[in-house]
Amino acid sequence: MTVADLSFAETERALAEAGVRPVHAAALWRVWYGAGAVADLPAPARRWLDQHVAAEALPTLDVADRSVSTDGRTEKFLLRLHDGQAIETVIMGYPGRFTACLSTQAGCAMGCVFCATGQMGFARHLTPGEIVAQVQHVRRVLAARGERVRNLVLMGMGEPLHNYDAVMKALAIIGDPRGPGIGPSRITVNTVGVVPGILRMAEEHRPYHLGVSLHGSTEGERAQLVPVSARWPLGDVLDACRVYSGRTGRRVFFAWTLIAGVNDTVAHARRLADRLAGIDAHVNLIHLNPTAGFDGTGTSVAAADAFRGALRAAGLPCTIRQRRGIDVAAGCGQLEAERVRRARRPTADPAALDYPIR
Ligand code: SF4
Repeated sequence: MTVADLSFAETERALAEAGVRPVHAAALWRVWYGAGAVADLPAPARRWLDQHVAAEALPTLDVADRSVSTDGRTEKFLLRLHDGQAIETVIMGYPGRFTACLSTQAGCAMGCVFCATGQMGFARHLTPGEIVAQVQHVRRVLAARGERVRNLVLMGMGEPLHNYDAVMKALAIIGDPRGPGIGPSRITVNTVGVVPGILRMAEEHRPYHLGVSLHGSTEGERAQLVPVSARWPLGDVLDACRVYSGRTGRRVFFAWTLIAGVNDTVAHARRLADRLAGIDAHVNLIHLNPTAGFDGTGTSVAAADAFRGALRAAGLPCTIRQRRGIDVAAGCGQLEAERVRRARRPTADPAALDYPIR
C-alpha cells in the first residue's frame, strides 16, 4: 500500500496509531496533493513520514512512452507500474478545458473484439493508489503548463466495474477537496455493461455520471462485438440502466462505436432509439480506432451524420465525439497492445469470469 491508497480518514487513523495527532493529516495531504512541501510539515508529521513512508510521497508512475497527436490536442502516456505492468492515461484538450481518460486495470477481461486492450487480455486490477497516481501524473503535466484537468472519464484500459471497490475508493480520494478535489459531477464511470456494478452504483447512490457502451441494439448484434454480453445480455443491461436512472435521477450516457457495415445504418439507429425508450439517455457516437486485431473499419462522416439524425428524429439527444488522436493510437490499450500481444493469451471466456460483485 502507498499513501495514495489512503483515504483522509485512513491517514488520520494511521497517524493516531503511530501516536501522532490526526490533525496533521491535513498538512500531509497538502504535501501529497497540493502545494505543500515536506520541509513545511510539522515535526511529528515529518517524523511519521520518515518512519512509515520512507522518502516517498505519492507513487510515481514511470513514463515508458509518450505520444502527441499531430493537432497537439491528445497526449497519451504509457505508464509503467512497479511490477512491470503498463497502463495508458490520455489527456484530451478541448477549447478551455482538459479531460483525462484513466485506466482501472492492466489489460481487460471483457474481450470487446475491436478494442486493443480487450485483444491483449487481463493482467490485474489496479489499486486505488495506482488510479489516484494517474490523476496526479496528469495534474503535474498540466500544472507545468499553467493548466489543470477539469473532467475525468474512466474509459481507459480495463472495466471499472470489474474493479468496483478499488475504483470507488480511488474516486473518493480524487474527489476529496483536501486532495485532488475533482468532484463527482466531473467524473464519468464507463462500463461495458456489468449489470451488478450498475445496480450497486444505483443502490449506493454513487454520485458519478454513468456511461454504458452498447455498440449493438439486438442481443445477437451486440454479442458479435461484446462477448461479455453472454453473461449480461443487453436486456438486463438496459433494465439496470432504468433502475440506475430511476434511483439516482441521473441521465445515462450510452456509447456507440460506429463500425462501417456492422452497426452504422439508419435502421440500426432506429432500433437503438426503440431500445432506449423510457430511459433518460444521451448517446455518444464514437469513431472506431483501428486496431491490428480487428479488421472492421470506421464509418463515413455521412453515415455518422445520418445515424445521429435518425436518433435525434426519435427524440434522443446525441453527439458525435470528435475523432481523438488516431495518429497516436489513442484508443485504449493501443500503445501497449503490440508489445503484449506476443506475450499473453487473451482471457479464454469473458462470460465465465469470476465476477466479484454478487
Ligand atoms: S472496450 Fe473497455 S471493456 Fe471492452 S475490452 Fe476494451 S477496455 Fe475492456
